[in-house]
Amino acid sequence: MFTSHAVEHHTQYRKVFHDDPMPKGEDRGIRLNFWEGLVEGLPVAIILFWFSPVGAGMFMLVVALHHTIWNQIHLEMHQPTGRFFANWWLYKFCARHHFLHHKYPDKNFNVAFPIGDFICGTIAKPSEKDWEAMRAEGIA
Ligand SMILES: [Zn+2]
Ligand SMILES: [Zn+2]
Repeated sequence: MFTSHAVEHHTQYRKVFHDDPMPKGEDRGIRLNFWEGLVEGLPVAIILFWFSPVGAGMFMLVVALHHTIWNQIHLEMHQPTGRFFANWWLYKFCARHHFLHHKYPDKNFNVAFPIGDFICGTIAKPSEKDWEAMRAEGIA
């Protein structure tokens, strides 16, 4: 997981935020494995189930939703094809958030739910040059 994300994904998209669509399987670390996410979430859901079966179900639903949203928006960020949400304000907000993560890898860790970075104090502050680059990307 570390190699796929921190080494391959960051190396590939450090200088250029997106590229033309690549053949399936040639992108690196751009997708989360949906089923792996469910398997990893299961131990937490089992513990939660003791306290609240509904809570356990909700937790698994959020994991599934997170992975689905994450995969769709992260793909659009790095391999834009003009998906239906590509012009939404919220999408562009997340894209700018993630753009800055690729510039400042120790900031803006959350792709789908940036609120986590506001809570943890890991928000990147864009410079004027960053704003310029984000405008060039069409996300600002
Ligand atoms: Zn990325
Ligand atoms: Zn990263």
